[in-house]
Amino acid sequence: MEDLEKSALSLIKKNKEGLLQSDLWKMLGLDSREGSRLVLRLTKKGLIRREQVMVNGRRTYRLFLVESDSGGKSIIVDLSNVLDIPCTTCPYIESCGPGNFYDPATCPLMDSWLEGKLESRSKLEKMSLKY
Ligand code: SF4
Repeated sequence: MEDLEKSALSLIKKNKEGLLQSDLWKMLGLDSREGSRLVLRLTKKGLIRREQVMVNGRRTYRLFLVESDSGGKSIIVDLSNVLDIPCTTCPYIESCGPGNFYDPATCPLMDSWLEGKLESRSKLEKMSLKY
């Protein structure tokens, strides 16, 4: 995250009632073009939300920090290792479960998928030992 984004988040956080975007731009010394881009970036990242308000007869936005359960820290979740799990395309997923006819514990598709994962992992470990 850029220093500018950190500064903006810090200023928005201090204003529990929301900070007018024009005030934020002034505080950061940005023109409206730069300020709009910054606000858009933070909004797209899900770090702030905008609420439309009327001030002196003009439409503008009040900015609020998006509170997260992680205490403001980002959590990066890597799902790349499970995206190809056979269950995502399995026609039996609705009836699959422990003790059922289709059971993850005895599923040949799941076994084969897990074996493939273990094989790739073991290959990677062997490669890393070489270097
Ligand atoms: S465990 Fe097997 S049967 Fe069950 S949903 Fe996954 S692929 Fe389908």
